[in-house]
Amino acid sequence: MAKQITKLCSKCKQTLSVIMFSKHKGQKDGLQCQCKKCFLVAYKRYKNSIRGTLNRKYHSMKYRCGDPSHPSYQNYGGRGIKCLFTSPEEFIDYVTDKLKVDPRELETDRIDNNGHYEPGNIRFVTHRKNSSNRRKKLPDERLITKKGEEVYRCRHHDFECLTTEQTAQKLNISIRQVNKRLACLRANSPQLFPILSQEQANVWSQWFDGGLTCVEIAAGRGVTPRSIQAQLQRIKKKMNYDEKVNSRAHKTVSFDIGVDETKIKQKF
Ligand SMILES: [Zn+2]
Repeated sequence: MAKQITKLCSKCKQTLSVIMFSKHKGQKDGLQCQCKKCFLVAYKRYKNSIRGTLNRKYHSMKYRCGDPSHPSYQNYGGRGIKCLFTSPEEFIDYVTDKLKVDPRELETDRIDNNGHYEPGNIRFVTHRKNSSNRRKKLPDERLITKKGEEVYRCRHHDFECLTTEQTAQKLNISIRQVNKRLACLRANSPQLFPILSQEQANVWSQWFDGGLTCVEIAAGRGVTPRSIQAQLQRIKKKMNYDEKVNSRAHKTVSFDIGVDETKIKQKF
């Protein structure tokens, strides 16, 4: 058989040289039906169509959930988020038939941020909306504001251990502002709490760091061991201290806030 040198394009109906056709293993002659020019036009049209857009979105969804080499894998697959659509067609049909939205210019978003990419949990939002859904970060990774840190250092028993009133006075702000800043800090960084009072901090430190018994602590303060015992119970509860898990031998409160699960990098 003579070597094929020309081919008829199924689209533009021109007979062209074989070099004008891309290779295609599925075809008898190993070439695509349409010439490169026609194929490119059709491809561009598909790429910009709703189905083409959804096809791309499907594959990037699969990629960030299933491939640890994806730069954002830790926020998707790494968090257990899965893409439960089994094929691009299933996803495309779901979006076009059920959601009836034009996803071009929009980003795929999950309604429940901890849920999977699955029917019922998909919506399309603008890039702006999607970015504002992400946890707000302060410049240079500060999740704790300077003002929050200021109040914290005044109030916390490992620093100045002032009362709310003393803190307000020292920083020249209202008591309400002190409480507001602390509430904000607690919402962002719960691992920095609780804050003990001066009295509680002293008892705790004697028992936890000093290894003294209730009787010894009570004797030093001229109170009954029973009252110290009761106070310790309250502190343990506040500190979430579990005898079975924690031990007095090492301190459990840490100020190196590089805790992995919270992803908070701020140290002070
Ligand atoms: Zn053609």
